Amino acid sequence: MTDIIKLLPDSVANQIAAGEVIQRPASAVKELMENAIDAGATQIDLVLRDAGKSLIQVIDNGCGMSETDARMCFERHATSKIRKADDLFAIRTMGFRGEALASIAAIAQMEMKTRRTTDELGTHIIIEGSVVQDQQLVSCQEGTVIVVKNLFFNVPARRNFLKSNQAEMRHIFDEFYRISLINADIGFTLTHNEKEVYHLYPGNLKQRIVALFGNVFNQRLLPVDQQTDSVSVSGFIGKPEFARKTRGEQYFFVNNRFIKHPYLHHAVANAFQELLPKDSFPSYFLHLTVDPAAIDINIHPTKTEVNFQETQLIYAILHAAVKKSIGQHNLSPMLDFSSDQAIDIDFGEISKASREVSPPGVTINPDYNPFDQQRAKPDWQNKPRQQAQGDWRVLYEDKEETAENKSETPIDKTDESGSKEETKSLGTAKFMQLHQQYIITVVKSGLMIIDQHLAHWRILYEKFMKQLASATFDSQQELFPHPIQLNAVDAEILHELKDELSLIGFSIEDMGQRSFVINGTPAGYPGHEPAALLERVIENFKHNHQDLHLDKKLNLARSMSVNLAIRSGKQLSEIEMATMVDRLFACQVAEVAPDGRKIIGILPIQNLQTLFK
Ligand code: ADP
Ligand code: MG
Repeated sequence: MTDIIKLLPDSVANQIAAGEVIQRPASAVKELMENAIDAGATQIDLVLRDAGKSLIQVIDNGCGMSETDARMCFERHATSKIRKADDLFAIRTMGFRGEALASIAAIAQMEMKTRRTTDELGTHIIIEGSVVQDQQLVSCQEGTVIVVKNLFFNVPARRNFLKSNQAEMRHIFDEFYRISLINADIGFTLTHNEKEVYHLYPGNLKQRIVALFGNVFNQRLLPVDQQTDSVSVSGFIGKPEFARKTRGEQYFFVNNRFIKHPYLHHAVANAFQELLPKDSFPSYFLHLTVDPAAIDINIHPTKTEVNFQETQLIYAILHAAVKKSIGQHNLSPMLDFSSDQAIDIDFGEISKASREVSPPGVTINPDYNPFDQQRAKPDWQNKPRQQAQGDWRVLYEDKEETAENKSETPIDKTDESGSKEETKSLGTAKFMQLHQQYIITVVKSGLMIIDQHLAHWRILYEKFMKQLASATFDSQQELFPHPIQLNAVDAEILHELKDELSLIGFSIEDMGQRSFVINGTPAGYPGHEPAALLERVIENFKHNHQDLHLDKKLNLARSMSVNLAIRSGKQLSEIEMATMVDRLFACQVAEVAPDGRKIIGILPIQNLQTLFK
């Protein structure tokens, strides 16, 4: 038999490698932008068409390449960033594997113009599926322009695997945010389908956060700053009261590189713990600087993990630094500190403690949660469901019947003519509010208890569903237009929801550059600041979309209604309670809230009787 093993041609090997490095347009965007940063650029422009599927162009004013390097850079394992194995432990550049350009060239049609300051002429190269088509000297700008056309043109399986433009754009924004956040001193632009989406001027981290995520962040950030021997931590955390329902803005960087690190995330989340409303996530933008020798970043290029030598130590320092930042910023009354330690965390001590680190000396009252309305949870509420068995409609009808039959149960009738003196069981009221959370009324079999927030949520939910199904507008012109600026992902959602939002009463004008003006809001909900309401609705929408995969209209109706529904803690008049109950019973599904929670409970009379045994 003849030998059968052969070395793969470079173009095939590159294509295989490309499968690992370049999974979607966003991976190419990341690699090209990182190369521009490594080249020392101070201005980087990203131009995209069709979410990068047909065009990705990166223009930088960095160091450029010589004629030979311009050809070399497309070879696999060709890099200017490391030379020997030892260099792997002192990496300060973003790239070092020398495979990005080779990979992209294997699966796309590429073109590059590059010139160093010292050269009079630059180099123009056209390369397609790893094959150089043309190379010439040209006059061009200093720096490098790389154009990537028709990604995966020769790998149809991959191309078909790509998601919608919207989904691919989301991945690109993720990469763009990560890179532009940690390089706030570099100017960036992002243009998609001829529209400029971002124009970021060089500045500091705070300015960059605001430019990316909207001016609301101006008031939301607390600085974090801590230097120790082993690590320095800097950046910002979001104030606890602005925590989000979706894991939106959570960024860790180590030595200028974005990373994901569940353990370190825990250190931050844990420092916030008692201060966050349930099911919400803190925002953070934190940069850790460590000795490059103390971490191992030699992992797969598409992964964002990093191994620290002293993870526990870094955990403790990070945790303490975040806690200190929260403590220092007037939130201290919310924390039950046993001493001033919280502010005066001894970072020297933590460093010395090295491996056997115990959590920093801050004591928090674990039961204290300023956002948790001390919910009154009477025992009976926790008893098994059977106690509230039976169809509420029957019960409610019972109530009406008995109201008419005054001799049986002394309850006032719904109409005003009912004789008040016979209403005994709930004083003079037919409806009573308990702990500003429950509406209580008497029915034949006992007490009917209605959760006011859930009831209102259900009522509004069905109302918005109806509005979304019809074409009636019910908008209220705002006296003054309200401006709002969103991040690109939220702005995209707003575009997507434009028609539906106007059906439920919003009148919104697109001013370009992710800026909008709210001219009208749904009529009948005073006390809701329009911009904040819209922001919360989008936030909820995102959350429902990610976690529940809800249909668009259902999702919007649900997000709107939950934000406008009255909360527990609101005092209701008797008329308001009566109206609420009537409207609830007019709903198609009155028993459960849109999220499946029960709205109505019955406390059977027998249970009351047992109290007196
Ligand atoms: P790596 O970044 O891991 O070295 P790449 O394939 O991304 O590998 O790039 C190969 C080489 O090409 C880099 O090491 C660098 O010398 C050069 N290069 C790539 N992009 C640029 C650029 N925008 N400006 C200057 N040089 C670049
Ligand atoms: Mg690179």
